[in-house]
Amino acid sequence: MSGRVVVTGAAGFIGSHLCERLLDEGFEVTAIDSFTDYYSPRRKREHIGQALGSSRFTLIEQDLNDCDLISLFEGAECVFHLAAQAGVRKSWGSEFSRYTKANILATQSVLEALKEVGRVRLVHSSSSSVYGETTDLPMKEGHRLAPVSPYGATKLSAEHLCELYRVNFGVDYTSLRYFTVYGPRQRPDMAFSRFITNALEGNTIEVYGDGRQTRDFTFVSDAVEANMLALRYTGSERIFNIGGGSRISILDVIRIMEKGIGTDFDVRFVERAKGDVTDTWAETTRAREELGFEPSVSIETGIGEEITWYREHIESDEGRETE
Ligand code: NAD
Repeated sequence: MSGRVVVTGAAGFIGSHLCERLLDEGFEVTAIDSFTDYYSPRRKREHIGQALGSSRFTLIEQDLNDCDLISLFEGAECVFHLAAQAGVRKSWGSEFSRYTKANILATQSVLEALKEVGRVRLVHSSSSSVYGETTDLPMKEGHRLAPVSPYGATKLSAEHLCELYRVNFGVDYTSLRYFTVYGPRQRPDMAFSRFITNALEGNTIEVYGDGRQTRDFTFVSDAVEANMLALRYTGSERIFNIGGGSRISILDVIRIMEKGIGTDFDVRFVERAKGDVTDTWAETTRAREELGFEPSVSIETGIGEEITWYREHIESDEGRETE
């Protein structure tokens, strides 16, 4: 019999998949999400539609900064903290306060509550964006951290906060640095979503930069698996790169998508965005050796699944910004 866990950001892209996996494994899930308007809250409700059908799923529709987290965390085995304001491009300017509130202040609220409750594990969702621009590839957990976006700076702050609460108050945590996650339900602002939806609608695809930038892409079920492995982890490492092992260029991604959709894309190259890095590539030896993490979905299969999902769920009213 599995126990009770808490998932923050439960209605989001990765969080909703994680909730389904936890329910499949018999856990009772307390889900927290404030349904921010970064993208359609209606779409987030669809994400958790299946989970809501389970008697072991409870949804708390509140901002983490306003919740009585102590009572929600008491008796739980683990808190999976995925709630955040994601997206690199929008993190400049006046929007930055959304990032500090969701990524730093909310994480501090989670940690304060964990400190009070004691003995509840934290699995924190971090990001490859903490590394910043580097030619020292693949990226290793011990590498210099120098984010080049305000988003990355807030995710790094959150990682530091986890460590501060561990050292000072014994909060037991694991931080997972995901490298670009994709698959069904991917956020509409992310490149794969924009490419697929625009191609399916016969629109031009905008590529930032020359398309030769590379990313280590991680299929969402592999990111979910990393969370499940982190739940049971008892070793002494704290931070893990979670990459899909499919480092390819955006131009190669487009070739795979053209084949999957069965049409040549009309591509327009536009100026590279501030905060975007040239390359990401995860060194995942630590995750493999310590957690037993092995990504299992190839980029061709994963893109195929995302195309299938978007064919069934295409919506014309989504905001389509980029990360
Ligand atoms: P998402 O935007 O789909 O999900 C985040 C969810 O958190 C949303 O449903 C939002 O409503 C909720 N939320 C935000 N602030 C909240 C608050 N203060 N209180 C309660 N709920 C709040 O994003 P995602 O792509 O699923 O990302 C999940 C996590 O993974 C984030 O922490 C993100 O930084 C991290 N991450 C994602 C990727 C990726 O490629 N998707 C890569 C690296 C790291």
